[in-house]
Amino acid sequence: MENIADMKKLRHLLHQNAEVSGKEIKTSTIIEDFLKKQNPDTLLTKQGGNAIIAIFNGMKPGFTTMIRADMDAVKVSSSVVNDYSSLNKSVSHQCGHDGHSAILAGLASFLNKNRPVNGKIVLLFQPEEETGNGAKRIISKGVLNEIAPDFIFGYHNLPGFSENTIITKEGTFASASSGLAIELKGKNAHAANPESGISPVLAVMSLIDFFEKLNKKPSGFKDFILNTITHVSIGKPVFGISPGSAKMLVTLRSFSDTDMNLIIKKISNKILELKVNHRLEIKTSLSDVFPALVNNSEALAIVEQAARKMKIKIKRQNEPFRWSEDFAHYNNIAKTCYFGIGAGKDCPGLHQESYDFPDSIIPKSIEFLGALCSGHFS
Ligand SMILES: [Zn+2]
Repeated sequence: MENIADMKKLRHLLHQNAEVSGKEIKTSTIIEDFLKKQNPDTLLTKQGGNAIIAIFNGMKPGFTTMIRADMDAVKVSSSVVNDYSSLNKSVSHQCGHDGHSAILAGLASFLNKNRPVNGKIVLLFQPEEETGNGAKRIISKGVLNEIAPDFIFGYHNLPGFSENTIITKEGTFASASSGLAIELKGKNAHAANPESGISPVLAVMSLIDFFEKLNKKPSGFKDFILNTITHVSIGKPVFGISPGSAKMLVTLRSFSDTDMNLIIKKISNKILELKVNHRLEIKTSLSDVFPALVNNSEALAIVEQAARKMKIKIKRQNEPFRWSEDFAHYNNIAKTCYFGIGAGKDCPGLHQESYDFPDSIIPKSIEFLGALCSGHFS
């Protein structure tokens, strides 16, 4: 077994040096320093941003397994105070990516002592998960072209599930989601003569009604969809002006990419109608785009087999999770499976102020990743 005290220490060091997406400079240095001591056959740094890749080669040829951990933190207003609190008060590891990285680093330590016999085991420490840019950039920059993994596995700690339970799902594991910004531009007018301006008020009302109806009667969709209006602003908070502009933010969600495309098509048609009927300029833009995370059945079988081998409880979900995960981008380049690791029934939820990654799940999780690679040891 790895030196668990060291892995906890590493997790606390990452927690203390929490950095937001795209700025994982200290984080990657800490991980790199640790990995150097684990003697990987190849250690690549600054890949597609701040990603680090450690490769352990077997003596015989074989397939390539890649395991990915995310390493970015989130902007917060406050977080738990303890002896390893984040040095930057406005950034904290409230999603537990510090723990994910510590677990993968623990696997590096295991592989240092138990070298694979065949094929390759690749450990990817990935930046920018929270913004949805990390995996996308790694793929688009061709970072994995030469490595060409056959299987890619990823995981997230999940509060609300018993500690160390492995949470799986056949098919879609987590939702596709996208942030949609709608900007409406008309013309200001004196509040006494609104008819001389072009107000976006009625168009905004029509959009709100449109999204509500789409949620209640989602006709033509194969599965669950959800649109959440997260922000609406019209004009300025004054009495004297009839507004000439408005902005609306909506989070779009679906269990499949096909349904997401249909949501976007329906919205485009609605926007066209509003442009004609209200004489407004309307611009739309998408951001934080996450495809649906779909598990490959062969990769899923490897995860569940590893859990059974270790006599770990498997909780197979019936419904996909509503949240999204940028691991979904790897779906197109290998056989992938994403799974959850129970963080404890009483563990505060992810992104909550009182959340702190439970160190107690580190030892079993490292062992589990080792079991996931068992095909490389025979
Ligand atoms: Zn996360």
